[in-house]
Amino acid sequence: MLHNDPIAALTPDVVAWRHHIHSNPELGFKEHETARFVTEKLRSFGFDEVHEGIGGTGVVGVLRCGTDTRAIGLRAELDALPVLEKTGLPYASRNAGVMHACGHDGHTAMLLGAARLLSQSRAFDGTVYFIFQPAEENEGGSMRMIEDGMFKRFPVEAIYAVHNWPGVKLGTIAARVGAQMAAVDNFELTFEGLGAHAAMPQLGDDPILAAGAFVQAVQRIVSRSVDPQSALVVSLTQIHGGNVANIVPGRVWLQGTCRFFEPDHSDCCEKLIGEIARGIAAAHSVTATLDYKKGYPPLINAAHATARAVEAAAATVGRENVSTEFSPSLGCEDFAFMIREAGGCYAWIGAGDVGPGEGLHGDRYVFNDEIVPTVMRYYVNLVEQTLAVS
Ligand SMILES: [Zn+2]
Ligand SMILES: [Zn+2]
Repeated sequence: MLHNDPIAALTPDVVAWRHHIHSNPELGFKEHETARFVTEKLRSFGFDEVHEGIGGTGVVGVLRCGTDTRAIGLRAELDALPVLEKTGLPYASRNAGVMHACGHDGHTAMLLGAARLLSQSRAFDGTVYFIFQPAEENEGGSMRMIEDGMFKRFPVEAIYAVHNWPGVKLGTIAARVGAQMAAVDNFELTFEGLGAHAAMPQLGDDPILAAGAFVQAVQRIVSRSVDPQSALVVSLTQIHGGNVANIVPGRVWLQGTCRFFEPDHSDCCEKLIGEIARGIAAAHSVTATLDYKKGYPPLINAAHATARAVEAAAATVGRENVSTEFSPSLGCEDFAFMIREAGGCYAWIGAGDVGPGEGLHGDRYVFNDEIVPTVMRYYVNLVEQTLAVS
């Protein structure tokens, strides 16, 4: 078959790059080989400006065309997850215990594909920054790039990214104005008191009893302290204390997470979790120590950038396949920092239905290569429409 369509012609190469990155996954801030792969590819496309080592292992490729008055950024992620892959794929991870289980291999390969296409067609007027960020999953690589002066060196009018989204229909794109992903804060809490013989509890304080009371009471924040119409999740995810049947331990450690869309909820959760923990500790004659860590902010799509993204998506998959009205996810996304700084839009690319264990972060997750040409077309449309030649 003859390929008149350069996107269709390039797709097999991009899928091969994706499989190569998939076989060689690297954890956050350790993406040295992946960053090298990206840099080499960009240089092979004729990019003469490729900046490495931004915010650790981040890479920015610069493509200038026409006048120099406008610029946008496109972002992909380099990092993989600490997951033992069980897909059985011929190109499965060769780095045991590390897996591209979120599809960042695909995001990086597709953004490289868009870089290749746009460097050939050059049908736009302005500058496109191709941003490959480290450590999206946990360590805040996007903030590290910002702190490293990325937007001062590469100022943009808006920044865009996509994420493959299992469970959303294949051939569709979803982007909404306002919150699309939640904020996340994590906390650790320790109750400490005097341990005792399990048969003589009157000689100790029993932090297990305090922890049990806290598990119940902390849900008061969601049910009684915030407007029921604003989403908030407080989940306890670890409890550890004691190691034998006949001793009441002197210490219980808990970990939990808070997810929300309204930035005010962060201070609210920190204050109330502390108050509830200290109140319960006082009632049980133990101490409570809270370590509350503010994490990624909510991802808030800007109206102007989302309008551009929706137009590009409509040109890619047809207007009837673009959703703008849907419930945001209570998952979180490090790209929120970049959008907060520069304004922009983050879109989900429908990846179709999947079975148990095959969703994002699952050990049998498989990136759907069918979305590769769709995403490249979306990026090309976005750049050519937003930075249109006048
Ligand atoms: Zn992820
Ligand atoms: Zn991801």
